Amino acid sequence: MSTGDEMPTTATYTEPVLRRIDVTAPLVADGSAAGSDQIKIATEHVSIKYGEKVAVKDVTLTVQARSILALIGPSGSGKSTFLRCFNRMNDLIPGAKVQGQVCLDGENVTDQDVSVVELRRRVGMVFQRPNPFPMSIYENVAYGPRRRGMNGRRQLDELVETSLKRAALWDEVKDDLRRKSGLALSGGQQQRLCIARVLATEPEVILMDEPASALDPVSTLRIEELMRELREAYTIVIVTHNMQQAARVSDVTAFFTMADDRAGYLVEVGPTGRIFTRPTERLTEDYISGRFG
Ligand code: ADP
Ligand code: MG
Repeated sequence: MSTGDEMPTTATYTEPVLRRIDVTAPLVADGSAAGSDQIKIATEHVSIKYGEKVAVKDVTLTVQARSILALIGPSGSGKSTFLRCFNRMNDLIPGAKVQGQVCLDGENVTDQDVSVVELRRRVGMVFQRPNPFPMSIYENVAYGPRRRGMNGRRQLDELVETSLKRAALWDEVKDDLRRKSGLALSGGQQQRLCIARVLATEPEVILMDEPASALDPVSTLRIEELMRELREAYTIVIVTHNMQQAARVSDVTAFFTMADDRAGYLVEVGPTGRIFTRPTERLTEDYISGRFG
């Protein structure tokens, strides 16, 4: 099957992903795959309510630096709500209330005197639908640094280039940086642009809420491959309803579920290879084998 220009892209993007990501490789809890055993994020007894309705109940877990944690579970189990507690995005939702502790490098970020602006710079977020600003590719990436007061032309040029390179988009856009709007890119490119925009603010943690669910399979694999590269330098937490994706990209998987009379809660968390082959909990086993959800 020949589809002209698109074929080389497919070949370049799929093969490295499939070869490099070994689901059965040694995992964080066994002490080898993670870049560091430093705990980057720790939640303690986190419960989150919308008004009187409890959406997340009593979640305690840790995320190691330079690892990828995947949050999986049925729709409505509180994955997105829980993800938003890491950079206080729930503050923006009227009626939402977070209880418990969320520590970043040991500091409780739910404290009222924590700078939320600085927190959201350190803990960046990528959403399900790519949301580039209606401005040039260059300005999309330079937006955050400019707002932080960086205006030296050379400094900005350099940061834009580095961020686009890290987001694996540079080669595709370098000739159109200032002329082309971010909105004129393909969906997969737009999502990598949004990742570049986050990287330009020099974050430590990147949160991704179903970042590939609006993308075609090739763009999805490209994003997955990018995540594995970014993991060398950043701590990543991803929500995905795609279990193959969780198995392919993450080091650790946390399974959430809920019941009619029970809010979203954490059933079990562990090295991804084990969760998908030897889960401890029956609920996890039923979910990953497709019996519900
Ligand atoms: P998931 O991401 O796992 O699908 P969510 O975190 O989006 O789950 O939702 C968890 C629960 O909280 C669901 O019952 C959902 O209806 C509810 N919820 C989510 N966002 C809001 C909101 N802004 N206001 C009220 N309830 C919400
Ligand atoms: Mg969600």
